[in-house]
Amino acid sequence: MSGNDKRAAGKDVAPAVPDAGADAPVAAAAAVIGRAAATGADLRPLFGLEDKVVLVTGGNRGIGKQIVVLLESLGARVAYTDRSDRPSEHGSLALHADVTYPAEMEQALERVEAELGPLFGIVVNAGITRDAMFHKMTHRDWDNAMSVNLTGAYNTVRPVFPLMRERGEGSIVFISSIVGERGGIGQVNYAVSKAGLIGMARSLAREGARRNIRVNVVAPGFVESDMTDKIPAEIRDQITAEIPMQRFARPVEIAWPVAFLLSPVAGAFITGAIVDVNGGHRM
Ligand code: NDP
Repeated sequence: MSGNDKRAAGKDVAPAVPDAGADAPVAAAAAVIGRAAATGADLRPLFGLEDKVVLVTGGNRGIGKQIVVLLESLGARVAYTDRSDRPSEHGSLALHADVTYPAEMEQALERVEAELGPLFGIVVNAGITRDAMFHKMTHRDWDNAMSVNLTGAYNTVRPVFPLMRERGEGSIVFISSIVGERGGIGQVNYAVSKAGLIGMARSLAREGARRNIRVNVVAPGFVESDMTDKIPAEIRDQITAEIPMQRFARPVEIAWPVAFLLSPVAGAFITGAIVDVNGGHRM
């Protein structure tokens, strides 16, 4: 039976979004795409990411992992950095690379292009917190946050941007944070690094626009991940009470807007944008 026959017969044609764990929205997305496929419709062209090569930094867990899963489900060939050698079962290529080392990122790019093809998109996702009240913040706290969140972004994009210029095509999404927009107690270093990404994105958006390179920012609010697992329960309750939607985001809820902005179809005329994904927290 051909694929079309199976669709006509209403058989379940492999849902395009694999279940990356107990994440209901991922399963819901799989159901939507699976249902569309069952009726002969393929939703993937809506995003135009089929066979596009995309690099996601920090794609082995947390938000980055869900971005890998979703992009793959939309047909992209996804490489991701896995600094700590704990690869997930998703994506086409796991790269042992630390964003703080320019040479490792250059080698990673060479490998992506050799094994998967010309890079179309980058999601600058790798990030850390080194929280401390400012009067107690050490130089090491400051340097660590800057070197991963900001210099790491530079190291990731720097070798790729000239190639995108030559090819006249590219799409970059930076994962900033609500904290970069409104500040955060005990997070001066993190806030500065995440605000810096907005300046980097908007400058690159201006430089890249005439070469068909779009550059955008997703600024999540609080998201369920290892990063926020460290927040003490009492503080977490206070934060949740401030969020109009009364909960933290699920990682896949960050992945969808990333895919939208990355897309040369859905996001075709969007560049220099900051998309807040925070359940109303910054209204
Ligand atoms: P996690 O702590 O769950 O994951 C962080 C990811 O970054 C891991 O894949 C980690 O890899 C990677 N990473 C850290 N340092 C490096 C490095 N030097 N080189 C390469 N990779 C590195 O965080 P989240 O998934 O929650 O966060 C992802 C992004 O979203 C971050 O930029 C974060 O600042 C941002 N964000 C998160 C929010 C939240 O509430 N969780 C809110 C707003 C923004 P490894 O496994 O090897 O350590």
